[in-house]
Amino acid sequence: MNAPMLRIEDLHGGYGTVDVLQGVSLEVAKGSVVALIGPNGAGKTTAMRLISGLLRPTRGAIVLDGEHVEGRDASRIARLGLAHAPEGRKIFGPLSTEDNLLLGAYSRLPRFFGYRRRAARDLEEAYERFPRLKERRRQQAGTLSGGEQQMLAIARALMARPKVLLLDEPSMGLAPVIIQEVYAAIRRLKAEGTTLLLVEQFAVTALEVADYAYVLERGRVAVAGTREDLGRNERVVEAYLG
Ligand code: ATP
Repeated sequence: MNAPMLRIEDLHGGYGTVDVLQGVSLEVAKGSVVALIGPNGAGKTTAMRLISGLLRPTRGAIVLDGEHVEGRDASRIARLGLAHAPEGRKIFGPLSTEDNLLLGAYSRLPRFFGYRRRAARDLEEAYERFPRLKERRRQQAGTLSGGEQQMLAIARALMARPKVLLLDEPSMGLAPVIIQEVYAAIRRLKAEGTTLLLVEQFAVTALEVADYAYVLERGRVAVAGTREDLGRNERVVEAYLG
């Protein structure tokens, strides 16, 4: 098998003196979609923050495309190829849709000549992927609908052309029909070979697209497997897929 694009080993960390994550190990193979599911408060968002460098692990390894990144700054980890579309989208409300997108390219483009031209190409790609964002390119991002903001968060993360994309609860707070739209975009990313780590509380939705899933409970991986494996696990079915 290929070396994983992202590998987490015995990861511990959290807020202050309490480690929310208590020894999590997981792998995301290149071009695969891996889901991290589990109940409220299990530590899914905390795991995303530790991986992207927003929180510092107290113990454990995070290896991105062969390089250890644990303990590095979030900006450095972003430049090494990790993009994070965080829980609650965290778009910049007062800025336009387009300026939010351009910020997503910032970690990558200033390093090259001709970045304005390159950004124009990236913008066109983002607008092709999400035509709604093109219609609303000059609109203040804070006034976009929830679904549009989620599409913006994904498009902004893609502007960095990441090796690994972290998506934290992309369905949060959205109507079912909008969730289907967001997941259509996620399925397209998968078809294009994007390497994705996806956090979801709606396990069924996430498992429709994931190649492999980890169930996080109280800061530890309780079960892991393919959709088929999890579908055969009575406890998992009852708790998360019922
Ligand atoms: P949810 O789906 O509800 O977001 P989750 O699995 O993502 O759940 P986390 O957000 O990672 O869970 O939270 C794990 C634990 O960490 C919870 O007990 C939560 O109260 C705590 N926690 C989260 N954010 C902070 C913070 N900024 N400071 C202190 N504790 C926090």
